[in-house]
Amino acid sequence: MSDSLDDARTAELSERLEAVRGRLDAAVAAAGRPTGACALLVVTKYFPADDVRRLLNLGVRSFGESREPEAGRKVAEVLADWTPEDSTDVPVFDMIGTVQSKKARSIARWARAVHSVDRPKVVEALGRAARAALDEGERTARLGVLLQVSLDGDPQRGGVVEADLPALAEQVSSGDSLQLRGLMVIAPLTGERKYWMAESARIHNAFRDRYADAVELSAGMSGDMEEAVAAGSTCVRVGTAIMGDRPLLSQ
Ligand SMILES: *Cc1c(COP(=O)(O)O)cnc(C)c1O
Repeated sequence: MSDSLDDARTAELSERLEAVRGRLDAAVAAAGRPTGACALLVVTKYFPADDVRRLLNLGVRSFGESREPEAGRKVAEVLADWTPEDSTDVPVFDMIGTVQSKKARSIARWARAVHSVDRPKVVEALGRAARAALDEGERTARLGVLLQVSLDGDPQRGGVVEADLPALAEQVSSGDSLQLRGLMVIAPLTGERKYWMAESARIHNAFRDRYADAVELSAGMSGDMEEAVAAGSTCVRVGTAIMGDRPLLSQ
């Protein structure tokens, strides 16, 4: 680790990361699921490249970002001076925020997967962008796609209702540059968390019956990890519990 990053912030991140890993392991065990059944995506949106470097030094390899151009710049900055141990040790960055079609081209340069796909126009833009990135050698694998499900139908919060999932899934699968990986949910703020998570599990199970490769269920954040893991989440997206409160100036 470079000495300049071996500081109080690293100690703080290390402590919170261990606490979250402990919560996640306990939740997976309590749900009777195998160790490692649920991945941890550390959400570093609004935090600087040096925090990503600190987390890399602490062993984190999966990150979530939510906005362009902040994300693209940060990823490029971090990767410029990071040498992986080997090809299996390369950090991955997922896009978890709302996608604007005009940003698709830059997202396709850095994202392993996009968790927040919820409109035909975005599927089309990402498909074209991923094809161009593959052709130009900017990526080697297809761009992963998780369809964001709206549990309560509130259009403000993004996502598609269950009935509209098949049409989007068909659109994703019809090209050769995107790969349908699963579903993403953000639990509504009102109502019982357990109820929403049970709904997520039901919708995901039904979806997977039809699209066997759609194994991922991205569900759970700092406040509802345990309920999400109990409902079968394969990826929790945790920001605040590890990073602390997001800086206000960049909201
Ligand atoms: C910011 C964000 C998170 C992280 O939420 P925390 O409550 O800070 O853990 C997770 N998912 C999405 C889609 C986000 O935008």
